[in-house]
Amino acid sequence: MKTIFEILLNKLKSLKSLRFFIILLLFLVGLIPSVIISNSIVHNYKTRAISVRTTEVVDQSRILATRLDSSGYLLNPLNDELNSEMNLLTDIYDGRIMITNDRFLVIYDSYNMSTGKTMISQEIIKCFSSGTGSTAYDPDNGYIEVTVPVNDSQTSETEGVLFVSASTDNISDSEIILKRNARIVVVTMTILLFSLSLFLSYLLVRPFKRITAAISSIHEGFGDPQVTIPDYRETEAIMDAFNSLMSRLKTLDESRDEFVSNVSHELKTPLASMKVLADSLIAADEVDNETYREFMVDIADEVDREDKIISDLLSMVRMDKAESAINAEETDMNELIELILKRIRPIADTKGVQMIFESKRQVTAYVDRTKLSLAIMNLMENGVKYNKDNGWLRVGLDADHQFFTLTISDSGIGIPEESLDQIFERFYRVDKSHSREIGGTGLGLAITRSAILMHRGAVKVTSVEGEGSTFTVRIPLKYSA
Ligand code: ADP
Repeated sequence: MKTIFEILLNKLKSLKSLRFFIILLLFLVGLIPSVIISNSIVHNYKTRAISVRTTEVVDQSRILATRLDSSGYLLNPLNDELNSEMNLLTDIYDGRIMITNDRFLVIYDSYNMSTGKTMISQEIIKCFSSGTGSTAYDPDNGYIEVTVPVNDSQTSETEGVLFVSASTDNISDSEIILKRNARIVVVTMTILLFSLSLFLSYLLVRPFKRITAAISSIHEGFGDPQVTIPDYRETEAIMDAFNSLMSRLKTLDESRDEFVSNVSHELKTPLASMKVLADSLIAADEVDNETYREFMVDIADEVDREDKIISDLLSMVRMDKAESAINAEETDMNELIELILKRIRPIADTKGVQMIFESKRQVTAYVDRTKLSLAIMNLMENGVKYNKDNGWLRVGLDADHQFFTLTISDSGIGIPEESLDQIFERFYRVDKSHSREIGGTGLGLAITRSAILMHRGAVKVTSVEGEGSTFTVRIPLKYSA
């Protein structure tokens, strides 16, 4: 049973989609401003309408106050004309008008409730003391209250106070209508924005779905045609990267197949020779001792050859392993080269190849002795193997403050120009038949290059067919991972 927490977590995870974020973004970007704008329009309307109404009431009250003074209303309030005018104003403002004299006695009240009574309020006292009026808005009851002094035009003394209250109900009614309209606009905007964001998000996300579908449809192998989704530059870039990854994988896959078939072939060749040799011994009725011995020597040679292929393969696999780290140690390169030359000497002597070591200086480097020895040994061995009888092999050693350089030149058969790029590939041999009698697996230079690259070094070759070859190796004096 899934807990509520797990269900919630799964729901949250499903929201982690690009489409959801696009919908949310478009929706919020469109909706938030429209809500803010409609609210501020309603609010501004109300403030402005109240302010206009207040000014209007103040103006009317001032005119009325002047007329009250000029008609001597405070002494004789029985003025029909003014009274009916004030009644009319009361109707228009849906409010109330009251007039007090200097003894705070109400001499006119449009509601007729307070006439003859005493009315004292802060506004009225302020009006008498300062001679200026005041305005106030009561939002709870929806009234504008205006207090205006009735000043004597000659003495400027305040003789009474006019108190007018005006209802703001019609403003509130308009506000309600405006609010309702704003709500309709917001709801319509919400529906429109939601539909638009659904549609846009569908359009924006569609190419990504097509990418997923295109990639999922590539089930087998790497032979499928290249997939392009040209909807956006970004999707095109994703597909370009994907296609180039696929073609790299294809190359790797092909080279692995080729390698496996090469290995099988190389391992089978000595076995086939041994089988032929053994079969002919079995088939012969009588074999003399010498022929028997000769065949056994050939079989032993083939066993050696098989052994060499297997140990070369093992060395190569070891070099290839990413984790096979370099075990760098301080090494006297002159001493190391002398040692390798000593090991090669017996083969060189059989061919009468003269070996010369020319060192420009004493070189000490931090290298993996075992791996680098193997690399140098392969180069020197080739220099002897592919040499003419009584030829020479020259080994040069030099260094600057950063690198040491090793040159191995021979006076051998040379390498054709078109093969120079390929000789470092696994199992590649310039002349298969030639190499076969010389003996070799085609793995030596591949191992050499791996070992040198592991030391962050480089190897290059120059050669003239029939004259000889020169391999140049450049390796940092200090290995840095
Ligand atoms: P192999 O085991 O055949 O020597 P390598 O990988 O060491 O394999 O060399 C690959 C091929 O490059 C050789 O078969 C040979 O044809 C060519 N080669 C290598 N070194 C030399 C050289 N010093 N002179 C001429 N050809 C060479």
